[in-house]
Amino acid sequence: MTNRDGSATSMLVFLNGKYLPVEQAQVSVLDRGFIFGDGIYEVIPVYNGKLLRLDQHLDRLKKNLDAIRLNLSMSAGQWEEILNELVQCNGYADKNAGVYLQVTRGAAPREHSLPDDSKPTVFAMCNPAVAVAPELSEQGVATITLEDYRWKNCHIKSISLLPNVLLRQQAVDSGAVESILIRDDCATEGSASNLFIVQHGLLITPPKGPFLLPGITRDLILELASENNIVYKEQVIKEFELRGADEIWLSSSLKDILPVTSLDGKKISNGTPGPLWRTMNDLLQDFKSRL
Ligand code: PMP
Repeated sequence: MTNRDGSATSMLVFLNGKYLPVEQAQVSVLDRGFIFGDGIYEVIPVYNGKLLRLDQHLDRLKKNLDAIRLNLSMSAGQWEEILNELVQCNGYADKNAGVYLQVTRGAAPREHSLPDDSKPTVFAMCNPAVAVAPELSEQGVATITLEDYRWKNCHIKSISLLPNVLLRQQAVDSGAVESILIRDDCATEGSASNLFIVQHGLLITPPKGPFLLPGITRDLILELASENNIVYKEQVIKEFELRGADEIWLSSSLKDILPVTSLDGKKISNGTPGPLWRTMNDLLQDFKSRL
């Protein structure tokens, strides 16, 4: 973005009721988000200036805030207004982008137990969309399996992402794009994505529960499957079933559905994206273009 004189304008972010240039947005070093990772976040994709599945994202945010006992008196309508304004004022009215929002418990003297009177810190920003490199969809992506050593509240979209960060980095270090996590012989999800496999024509994804994030893209894929008579099951995926799958997919808001063509250095089927992935990806792209 540039000013009329050609100089760069800074991104405007939302912080505690104000829209500010990013350089001027500041939070206290005593913020519990900074000190404890005590907060919740959401990532919402924007297509042609429209927030995709906003209601579902805000519903998940509300559940997460309740789960961590963070009282925030902001209605869905208020969120909608703020996030749309953020999209508009940063020049994404007819573009693709990604909104990131975060709510932390705010600043308080450092003490583990919950403060009585801290004021939540509410932050949101809108970043340009980073298109998935075409070769990733055309050729599929490499993954590795790693032990899922995260906590047992993975359904909470916590900003404490250190395990996910380290698990992703281990994948990157080994030349893969994502790690697929294994807990008690079952595949749960990726470090920042949900997991699907195709087995003899049947689409399978693990059921919701404490071991995975209830992804908005995951739900959309299942909805599109229902509407298009694609048979699916929400059932646990054993590690051996993952290794023997005909297709493996990863889903997330900013990357849509990525076909996995290699797992721990071994090809999945013939090492190219599978036919059901192509069908589902077309359905998803069509859904987005109709927004
Ligand atoms: N699982 C994890 C651990 C994630 O971090 C994400 C993306 N934030 C997802 C799944 C996918 O969720 P969504 O489709 O809502 O982006």
